[in-house]
Amino acid sequence: MTKDFSTQNFGFHVPTEVHFGFGKLATVGDTVARFGTRCLLVTGPKTGSVGAYLPRVFEYLKAAGVSVAHFDGVIPNPTTDTIGAGAKMAVDFGANVILGVGGGSSMDAAKAIAVESTHEGSCWDYLFYKEAKPTDKTLPVIAVSTTSGTGSQVTQVSVVTHTQTRDKSALYNALIFPRVAIVDPELMESVPRHVTACTGFDTFTHAFESAIHVNTSPYVELMAWEAISLVLTHLPAALEDGSNVEARSALAYADTLAGMCIAIAGVTLPHGIGMAIGGMYPHVAHGEALALNYPAFMRFTCATAPAPFARLAKLFNRDLEGMDEKAAALRSCDELDAFLQKIGLWMGLADKGVPEHELPDLARQCRVLPDFKNNPRIATEEEMLALMQQCFKR
Ligand code: NAD
Repeated sequence: MTKDFSTQNFGFHVPTEVHFGFGKLATVGDTVARFGTRCLLVTGPKTGSVGAYLPRVFEYLKAAGVSVAHFDGVIPNPTTDTIGAGAKMAVDFGANVILGVGGGSSMDAAKAIAVESTHEGSCWDYLFYKEAKPTDKTLPVIAVSTTSGTGSQVTQVSVVTHTQTRDKSALYNALIFPRVAIVDPELMESVPRHVTACTGFDTFTHAFESAIHVNTSPYVELMAWEAISLVLTHLPAALEDGSNVEARSALAYADTLAGMCIAIAGVTLPHGIGMAIGGMYPHVAHGEALALNYPAFMRFTCATAPAPFARLAKLFNRDLEGMDEKAAALRSCDELDAFLQKIGLWMGLADKGVPEHELPDLARQCRVLPDFKNNPRIATEEEMLALMQQCFKR
């Protein structure tokens, strides 16, 4: 059925320049040099996953005449302490450009460092709901993504965890859109199987949640459904063989599309729940936090927005093509369960060591960020607690 555009109001703004393709890492030196000559490189530990290609990053930066200080202290789900240490290094070095190389954690840390190193106080003072806003003193950020993933290379979002308050929240500002995103699928061949599953599922959730978001729009839907189809086909293939170039490239493309979707529309209930889980239990990976709440979210929401849920069911299973919308929407829940089992993410809160007596606190925390309000069905306090109970055991 064609859409009636006479009833539509929407916009599109993603200012990030994207360089996509095998070998694009080679453009990083010239790219960074367009924005500054003193670069803070932000990564996880040098001995870890980025170690293999860091020498090439240094070589390209040097060839372009860029001086580098290397902050390699990023941990998964970066904390305010991590950002503080990186920002201090940026100030001491006199950095005028920040280069984040890694998964969402390194790219998000780069964005928060770009703010904290140029403003009073901590990055936590500039969260999306606070009065203080980043100004144009914010340093330019270049992002090189190494997971497919978070879409952070094309978003205005930086997710940070506050260890002391067990809280995970986000900076959200157009000034932290990376100026350039380098998406080189070659860098993703080394991503371990479980991280591939978590990040691939994260891409799926960005696309699906932006498609059902109360503020979805035609551009978002176009990109979101393309990203969903790509993940459903290529994530199992990448899990089977991590060196499958076609699968890695398709996932990198899907990740970038889905990132643009969340930059324009946003995410819904599962991400609000995922952020609460990540804040209270930082050992739970972002993709795991999503996987363990999706079965409950699907059953809670499918009848309220049957069209996209039915469309999803039919993408999962072509045999459902003729099924009526209501039945197919319900069926999408079982299809999603099967997909989680197939990709090795069938888990509950109990599997991740979350104590059952903390479920009421967790349920309250799930309603702190506004994501749940963007869901087609808005969970009350009681419903959120029931959702957490459903997420507990698999
Ligand atoms: P991550 O960046 O924490 O990386 C996960 C693990 O994979 C790490 O141990 C890392 O060292 C390793 N890794 C990364 N690249 C690798 C490679 N090429 N080879 C081998 N190992 C590699 O994980 P992530 O899922 O990419 O990012 C998660 C973070 O991003 C969370 O904090 C999440 O909340 C945030 N996030 C941000 C946005 C956004 O728009 N900014 C969106 C979604 C999630």
